[in-house]
Amino acid sequence: MLTSNILNADLHCHSVVSDGTLTPEVLAERAQTNGVELWALTDHDEIGGQHRAAAAARAQGLKYLTGTEISVTFANETVHIVGLGFDPDNAGLLQGLRNTRGGREQRAMEMSDSLAKAGITGAFEGALKFVGNPELISRTHFARFLVESGVCRETSEVFRKYLTEGKPGYVPHRWATLQNAVTWITQAHGIAVIAHPGRYNFTPNEEYALFTEFRAHGGRGVEVVTGSHTRQEYVKYAETAREFGLAASRGSDFHSPDESHTDLGALPFLTGELTPVWELLADRIQ
Ligand code: AMP
Ligand code: MN
Ligand code: MN
Ligand code: MN
Repeated sequence: MLTSNILNADLHCHSVVSDGTLTPEVLAERAQTNGVELWALTDHDEIGGQHRAAAAARAQGLKYLTGTEISVTFANETVHIVGLGFDPDNAGLLQGLRNTRGGREQRAMEMSDSLAKAGITGAFEGALKFVGNPELISRTHFARFLVESGVCRETSEVFRKYLTEGKPGYVPHRWATLQNAVTWITQAHGIAVIAHPGRYNFTPNEEYALFTEFRAHGGRGVEVVTGSHTRQEYVKYAETAREFGLAASRGSDFHSPDESHTDLGALPFLTGELTPVWELLADRIQ
């Protein structure tokens, strides 16, 4: 069964351990209710929720793969690399992620200063009220504060008006390198997957460089069916997966019942010509 493309796998979502609003336990229950057959929790730059998620999945009778989503700077853009099926106690991975989380608090204070200049005060303290993990203050927490304080109606409006390049509250940040992220994951016996490639503002040449270098560093997969892609992007990145010899992944990128438009497991299946990432990870499914 786990070599089939017709599998309700959801290998991308977030809990309170990063910028989601549900606990790993509530997510496991929701995944089970929604008919997910194979699940991974992929908190940003953090694997502190992995043992909880695996235990919660076991309690629900749900198959589980360890997961994370690492922030990377490539060609002056932020790219996300999902790691799947790694050892959650691997020292190199834990240390790499700890280092990459380190810059977030300083960045958040600078974001708050930038918002103050636009007349929005108290954003750092306001965002902190939404933070579940003190090492992981993110733009999402600022977005929730801006909605709560009535500056915007919803988080999608926040990212149109604030926190993105050229807008108040935006602070450029240097994350891990592509090589760092892929190496941390593969040395921990996991596989690296390019997250939602349709979301980056790359030229065709830059995108080609991303996939080429990702492969050269040992990357093995790409998200094809994700809550961040249009139907046309499913087709485009299925073709890219074949071109670069990458396995295909599937995940909602669910963060919150109030914010996410794609619920856990609510995605089309991978089409037949693709090799699903779970085929490469059969021996790591718990
Ligand atoms: P950070 O890692 O602090 O830069 O925050 C990135 C997070 O912000 C992403 O993982 C999303 O959860 C959220 N985000 C970024 N852009 C958008 C957007 N346009 N709409 C909604 N959420 C977004
Ligand atoms: Mn997020
Ligand atoms: Mn992402
Ligand atoms: Mn994500």
